[in-house]
Amino acid sequence: MAKVIIAGGGLSGLSLAWFLKELRPGWEVLVLESEARAGGKAWTIKEDGFVCEKGVNGVLDNKPSTLALAARLGLEPLKSNNAASRRFVIKNRHLVQLPASPAQFLTSKLLSLPGRLRVLAEALVSKGDISKDESLADFARRRLGKEAFKYLIDPMATGIYAGDPERLSLRSCFPKIHELERDYGSLIRAMIKLQREARKKGKKGPGAGPGGVLTSFATGMNELVDALVRALGPAVRLNSSVASISKQNTGWRVFLKDGEEFEADHVVLACPVKAVSEALKETAPDIVKLAVKINYPPVSIVCMGIKQGTTENPMNGFGFLAPSSERRSILGSLWDSSIFPNRAPEGYQLIRTLVGGARAPDLAGLPDSSLVDLVVKEFSELVGLKGTPEFVKIFRWEEAIPQYEKGHQALASKIDSTLRSYPGLYIRCNWLGGVSLNDCVANSERLAIQLTS
Ligand SMILES: Cc1cc2nc3c(=O)[nH]c(=O)nc-3n(C[C@H](O)[C@H](O)[C@H](O)COP(=O)(O)OP(=O)(O)OC[C@H]3O[C@@H](n4cnc5c(N)ncnc54)[C@H](O)[C@@H]3O)c2cc1C
Repeated sequence: MAKVIIAGGGLSGLSLAWFLKELRPGWEVLVLESEARAGGKAWTIKEDGFVCEKGVNGVLDNKPSTLALAARLGLEPLKSNNAASRRFVIKNRHLVQLPASPAQFLTSKLLSLPGRLRVLAEALVSKGDISKDESLADFARRRLGKEAFKYLIDPMATGIYAGDPERLSLRSCFPKIHELERDYGSLIRAMIKLQREARKKGKKGPGAGPGGVLTSFATGMNELVDALVRALGPAVRLNSSVASISKQNTGWRVFLKDGEEFEADHVVLACPVKAVSEALKETAPDIVKLAVKINYPPVSIVCMGIKQGTTENPMNGFGFLAPSSERRSILGSLWDSSIFPNRAPEGYQLIRTLVGGARAPDLAGLPDSSLVDLVVKEFSELVGLKGTPEFVKIFRWEEAIPQYEKGHQALASKIDSTLRSYPGLYIRCNWLGGVSLNDCVANSERLAIQLTS
């Protein structure tokens, strides 16, 4: 029987504990979570009839990991409304709908005619140097042209990473896209070929977008957290902040900030870079030296309840993103009550707006009143908001979304190989192996299988 300690009760840590318990019910597994609640960035707050996601909004259903876990816990998934397929991008101070299909792309106003023709010419662009760790921006300009970069790819970097496309690595952030160029020489040619092959098998081929439907649960992402916490019972300890760990003759010793100690055969650090660096500074300074290179900028979220009819734009859709070239002070906005049912009381809309990220980390630190003023000003210009929102809630993440910048893949491999000189020590958190919840859960399942086989 092995003893496993998991430091961090976000969904990486909780799902890892659950998979371990499923595979080896007799093992002693303990999740130590620093906060008074588990779940990390998956956290639903219910107030005044509004259901606000403090962080994670949902998962795409085209990767099975999270929803398969949810099904095993007996949860019913909730797919986003059809309206959520309408996504907008700011162009010249106006919201312009993103084309959702190749046919819509041909007539879309988002790109000029030369811009659209340049995208179609992607099929003729020769394959780049595949060995190079290229930035998302360089890749997009090279293959799709400057305009498509500005209005399609730059907003995508904002929407997923709150990141700077000049620094984000294509192969680390969007490995599938990198592989399409590597294997087919062109994204358009790859799409045509894969569509054709899929049709032959009677299946639907890949589309131009991210694919998949955003999916959550009737009362929000907390349903998944609560179900895991219930299933794990005493294996989750709250208010237990890990301060340091040290190597023993056999196994590891884990020290909490309050002085309590635990012994374990395996220790998994499932927390953000700062906590991992603190915990390992004496025991594994070589890992800390590498981990601190990962940029983890802050994001603040302004959640607003707005009376229906007080905006000129009905805000019926997924929301909008702000390309860097538009120089807005917000990153974008999610129209939550249009994405999922029952997120706002009758007659109200629930809107969440993101501020900060790699593009403007300082703005995330503005005081509450300045953040609200900034968002209200943007909304009056962009959607014609009259007056002020009746419900406001502000959420702050000091370490929000880790940035997989150029060189990330080499850095992650180095961390991986360095960890091998510390048998029994592992890291599982969204700053390695993929930022999405689906990636986190899949990585945890893989580690559980590795540890138990
Ligand atoms: C605003 C925002 C929106 C997002 N939206 C989505 C989305 O819609 N879909 C999606 O797939 N992904 C989304 N993400 C990414 C999401 O963060 C990850 O998918 C996933 O939730 C990360 O889980 P994790 O367990 O790896 O890390 P975290 O959720 O960060 O969990 C780490 C845990 O470690 C704990 N901890 C910290 N220090 C210590 C310590 N010293 N001792 C013990 N415990 C400690 C923390 O309290 C926390 O509970 C979003 C992220 C942010 C910030």
